[in-house]
Amino acid sequence: DNGGVPGRVRVAVRLRPRNSEEMVADMDFADCVELQPELKRLKLRKNNWDCETYQFDEILTETASQKRVYEVVAKPVVESVLEGYNGTVMAYGQTGTGKTFTLGKLGEEDTADRGIMVRAMEDILANISSVDDSVTVSYLQLYMETVQDLLAPEKDNIAIVEDPKTGDVSVPSATHVELQDQRSFVRLLQAGEANRFAANTKLNTESSRSHAILLVNVRKVVKPKIGDRESENGGSPQVGKNIRAPTIRKSKLLIVDLAGSERVDKSGSEGHTLEEAKSINLSLTALGKCINALAENSPHVPIRDSKLTRMLRDSFGGTARTSLIVTIGPSPRHRGETASTIMFGQRAM
Ligand code: ADP
Ligand code: MG
Repeated sequence: DNGGVPGRVRVAVRLRPRNSEEMVADMDFADCVELQPELKRLKLRKNNWDCETYQFDEILTETASQKRVYEVVAKPVVESVLEGYNGTVMAYGQTGTGKTFTLGKLGEEDTADRGIMVRAMEDILANISSVDDSVTVSYLQLYMETVQDLLAPEKDNIAIVEDPKTGDVSVPSATHVELQDQRSFVRLLQAGEANRFAANTKLNTESSRSHAILLVNVRKVVKPKIGDRESENGGSPQVGKNIRAPTIRKSKLLIVDLAGSERVDKSGSEGHTLEEAKSINLSLTALGKCINALAENSPHVPIRDSKLTRMLRDSFGGTARTSLIVTIGPSPRHRGETASTIMFGQRAM
């Protein structure tokens, strides 16, 4: 458990409840997984008599509430962002297993349904105290190694810029909206979703084939505490110099709804173009390699292999805190996809 330690990626598995179609179609069959949340273990059924057991940081059952998922998976990341560190929360899984439900659900009819994006923003806005503090938001789509601005669809080729000195990653040409309140954030997400739909209709693709990235930049003005000066000078008093300027602390949170993890090598048969399949594979494979490298404490994290990992560069590993939510469905008919999704998460452990 790295609850208090940045570096390794923290991995939670979330099982979606059976949907109405599965209730009927899988009526005579058991779920393909069995969860042991207290032991933080998951058993994947191989056949009627055999199963494989996997250990994770957290197991979220089909009855886990959105609130609990937020508290377990995202809140520690949000808290460290408010302390000035970068952080990432991402969801990986087959299309239809609940990535967008977990991250992007607005919960306008029932606030209990609200997902991680809305809850995170609520916590961040509640912690913005001074008039000098600010929160800005960008919302991007990454499709075929191209970054599009979901808040300004005409910007369809946003550059990812890396500061060679600090290593800070930014997207200066993307729209950055300064937020004051929760309502405007929800409207912004809705606008972004509508633009995503329109852009994908134009490209004749589906949102499951692109990554959606919410970028939250937090800027806090930190006033020196009484007594800070002494400790910084090793206790030696310097009369007359005891007024220190406030410092500006910048950090960012990335919330990433990844492209569907279903194997895209069956290009053509599922309507993928070969190029599209290659690029989805490229970014998810690159992400997997980076997660793996962090888990193994490898000095070489191949972060430059894709736009997705380049975007994550300063918010992934190191002092940043990263949570991965692996979403799975219960159906025994998708056992193969579920197995490969679980293996992806397992590589981070
Ligand atoms: P994905 O983004 O991975 O393709 P979605 O989030 O769109 O999947 O979820 C697919 C469907 O399942 C949606 O109708 C969603 O509301 C529902 N769903 C997903 N997870 C849950 C859950 N934990 N509880 C209830 N419904 C869920
Ligand atoms: Mg989705």
